[in-house]
Amino acid sequence: MAHGYQNYIGGEWVPAASGQTFDDLNPADRDDLIGRFPRSDARDVDRAVQAAQEGFARWARVPAPRRAEVVRKAGETLRRRKDELGRLMTREMGKVLTEALGDVQEGIDTAEYMFGEGRRLFGVQAPCELPQKFGVAIRVPVGVVAAITPWNFPLAIPTWKIFPALVCGNAVVFKPAEDTPLLATLLVEILAEAGLPGGVLNLVQGFGEEAGDALVRHPGVHLVSFTGSTEVGRKVATICAAEGKKVSLEMGGKNVILVMDDARLDLAVDGAVWGGFGTSGQRCTAASRVIVHEGVASAFLDRFVERARRLRLGGGLEPTTDVGPVINARQLQRIHEYTQIGRSEGARVLTGGEPATEGALARGHFYRPTVFADVEPKMRIAREEIFGPSVAVLRAKNLDEAIEIANATNYGLSSAIYTRDIDRAFRAIEALATGITYVNASTIGAEVQFPFGGVRQTGNGHREGGWTVLDIMTEWKTVYIDYSGRLQRAQIDV
Ligand code: NAD
Repeated sequence: MAHGYQNYIGGEWVPAASGQTFDDLNPADRDDLIGRFPRSDARDVDRAVQAAQEGFARWARVPAPRRAEVVRKAGETLRRRKDELGRLMTREMGKVLTEALGDVQEGIDTAEYMFGEGRRLFGVQAPCELPQKFGVAIRVPVGVVAAITPWNFPLAIPTWKIFPALVCGNAVVFKPAEDTPLLATLLVEILAEAGLPGGVLNLVQGFGEEAGDALVRHPGVHLVSFTGSTEVGRKVATICAAEGKKVSLEMGGKNVILVMDDARLDLAVDGAVWGGFGTSGQRCTAASRVIVHEGVASAFLDRFVERARRLRLGGGLEPTTDVGPVINARQLQRIHEYTQIGRSEGARVLTGGEPATEGALARGHFYRPTVFADVEPKMRIAREEIFGPSVAVLRAKNLDEAIEIANATNYGLSSAIYTRDIDRAFRAIEALATGITYVNASTIGAEVQFPFGGVRQTGNGHREGGWTVLDIMTEWKTVYIDYSGRLQRAQIDV
């Protein structure tokens, strides 16, 4: 009998109003049922938002350093339970254990950073033009925050949203991805045990079109913080625009590595393997394109393909595994469809290009690390997000052409350049249309104390991470205090 889990609303663990559940399966082994989770709908969302409204009224009055104390305690629990959580994450969504542990570590780092923010949350003081008048801008909470998250970073991404939301004095309704409900449950349990009062954080499990959509539409929600695909993010943005809600969006990417002819080639190959095939290519910052200077293109491809062929597929808990499964059957099919699209567009598959089904792999969703050559910038595999272990390699005559190709996509999350020429590095930093650029490192490697996010259709101008997340999770309030005892008229009595 599979373990049954519940929603968390107003400080109580409760089933979905529908009484229905959905199954959480291990993507490396479909016979491994992790648990049954509540399939929530608008009724559960309504209860959760009401509980959050009550929670907010109390929580906003708790001083920020006290609020941050709860986040610090949760961070300590994450550290103590890191190994257990990492293993459960690998079982739930497939990434290899070292990467799952990195995901938990990112949650710990975020807790530490946001704990300090409890004693900062800096406002701005500036002089006033009138005498005996004092002006200051302070941060105030937004209210009820809807946190909607994807499955690829089941702990880190929720902490990026929930920890700052709580420190800033908001109440949260959390709707995690339907592929990773267990890690979401554990995070909520950990925060509740750390001393969060009931109603301040509520968990509603379920599907995007049901629970997620109802949450975005609910009039009691003041801010929607969404991370996921551009397709869904657009829908969320449209609803929020119609309802006049604040919305922050972190969406898809078609990230790129540029390899110049003066690059340390082995380093660039290491970066392309890590960026392209880490987390089975299912990172928002995955390097799904590599643009190589024609002078080193053949040498690069030889080494890259050779490394991709050697990657060992398997369950993420096996120490011998380099690449785990992809998240589900739908995604496996989508990745394979892109292989067929690439072939029909005239690209050549140098390795991979098919699901892996030998032995125990048949029980999961495995796809062979895939490298496309002869890719032209206009091809769909060069422009659209595949979200799997598929890398398109393109050629360029020089840096200018490489940058032009790099920017020929609607996305703009992460880019990287391998070069030893400092002029080229700076020209690339200036010209690449992405929110993050790496020099001599892969497209992956963000740290929590810096802004994270992308330009164009990757985002809508907000940045999570670092201090910039505070601009999402708070509103500015400007306060003027006139202690002159007489009517003073700004812009007039000057
Ligand atoms: P997804 O868009 O399918 O789902 C994301 C979340 O939205 C899930 O919780 C889902 O249930 C919910 N959702 C789905 N439909 C909804 C609707 N109509 N209304 C409200 N909520 C809805 O994305 P995914 O498959 O979980 O994640 C992969 C995508 O996320 C990729 O495109 C990846 O690039 C992106 N991503 C972006 C970042 C970033 O920071 N830019 C980080 C990680 C992942």
